Amino acid sequence: MSKSQFFKKLRFANVFILILIVFVCCALLICINFFTIKTLSATRAYVNGESHYSKGQKDASRHLITYLYTKDKNQWKLYLEELKVPQGDGTARVALLKAGDNAIARKALLVGRNHQEDLDDLVWLFVNFKKVSFLAKAINEWEQGDKLIFKLFIIEEQINAKIKHNILTAADQQKFLQQISIISDKLTINERNFSNTLGEGTRKIKDLLIFTNVFFILIIICSVCLYYSIMVKRLIVSKKEIEVKNENLILVNHELDHFVYSASHDLRSPITSLQGLIKITQEEDNLNQIREYLTLMHTSLARQDQFISDIIDYSKNKRKQIILEPVSLQEIFDEAISQLMHFENASQISITKELLVDEIQSDSLRLKIIIFNLLSNAIKYADNTKQQMFIAIKTYIADGCNKIEISDNGIGIKDEFKDHIFEMYFGTNKNKGSGLGLYIVKEAVENIRGNIYVLSENNIGSKFIITIPNHHGS
Ligand code: ADP
Repeated sequence: MSKSQFFKKLRFANVFILILIVFVCCALLICINFFTIKTLSATRAYVNGESHYSKGQKDASRHLITYLYTKDKNQWKLYLEELKVPQGDGTARVALLKAGDNAIARKALLVGRNHQEDLDDLVWLFVNFKKVSFLAKAINEWEQGDKLIFKLFIIEEQINAKIKHNILTAADQQKFLQQISIISDKLTINERNFSNTLGEGTRKIKDLLIFTNVFFILIIICSVCLYYSIMVKRLIVSKKEIEVKNENLILVNHELDHFVYSASHDLRSPITSLQGLIKITQEEDNLNQIREYLTLMHTSLARQDQFISDIIDYSKNKRKQIILEPVSLQEIFDEAISQLMHFENASQISITKELLVDEIQSDSLRLKIIIFNLLSNAIKYADNTKQQMFIAIKTYIADGCNKIEISDNGIGIKDEFKDHIFEMYFGTNKNKGSGLGLYIVKEAVENIRGNIYVLSENNIGSKFIITIPNHHGS
């Protein structure tokens, strides 16, 4: 896996993790809020139940006292009716403690005047949180209250027995009244403690709820901000990439236009000159003149051939993929020299080779294009006026890179042309070439991630130096 692919995957993983965090936080928030609301609703139902419990107990005490002094049976019945409320709650508490959620507990809660719709929450909170400190404390107060309610019930039994047997004295009445009011006072304390404990629990739950909500919302906000910053960065990067691609496309398009225009012109010009030569040859009787025309025709055709082969190289260089493989430089030079031997003057030029590097890891097609074009130029632009024409080929390693040098003592390049020789269709002598050779060479060198530069002096000679990076392990 390349470095950029690795970072791409890492970035994708980051974004994925952020989305996951947001989802998890949202799910947690929903759950926490749902259960908190359920707990608060159950606590509210318990406080409501407590007010019924308290009212029932107080009304029962009041009726019992009235019964104590009036012996009115109706007051006794009313007492029994009101006492059922705290007794029902007490039965529910015992049933829930013993068996958890059950029908007896639910029925008893209804007797305790709790609302039918609150039953689920009441039972759920009791069963699941009976050991949580605030509820455990409240249940304890509740139990103490139930014990007092039982005492009230016993007092009523005693009063009833005395009334039945008609032995209730004023002193008894005084004693029972005192006992009832002591129980009532104690119950009031228990009931208040019960409500206060639940209130305390509710406040704690509220604080916890605010804290968790703020905490998760902060995580969500941070994750969303991070997600957006990553996305915006990505958009900027891809926008830049598209801009670069667009610029490249415009350049390629422009190059293609230029190429098509010049190619169509250059392909036609030898044909036009051939047509002219054929016409004048048909009218010519002089054999020597005809031979001269034929030589011109040959030159024109050779130029056409060279141009077509340049176009083929250009297309191959553009289209074909780079294939890195072991390539013998010696073999490529030998092949190129043997192909170029038919060039004019080629046999009079001494070609020397000093190959300190032979086999390299590179693309053979590009190397052939480079070497063939540079050697053919060295031959084409040889200086006939010099007694000894030579081409020197060198390969060696410098700074960890493979170097190829092709030097000649040809006509050299004038200073004003040096900056243009690698441009498309730049040529100083249209009879000698298409002006595509060095342009293709430069593209081929860049394709194999190398570079090329030239040292040349007019009338002295030229030296082309190509640097090819070592592709081992690429
Ligand atoms: P062409 O097909 O015209 O040779 P190139 O792109 O190969 O086109 O070369 C561009 C120009 O560079 C040539 O016209 C020539 O003036 C100059 N040139 C290239 N190689 C040499 C060389 N070895 N000696 C002198 N001039 C050269």
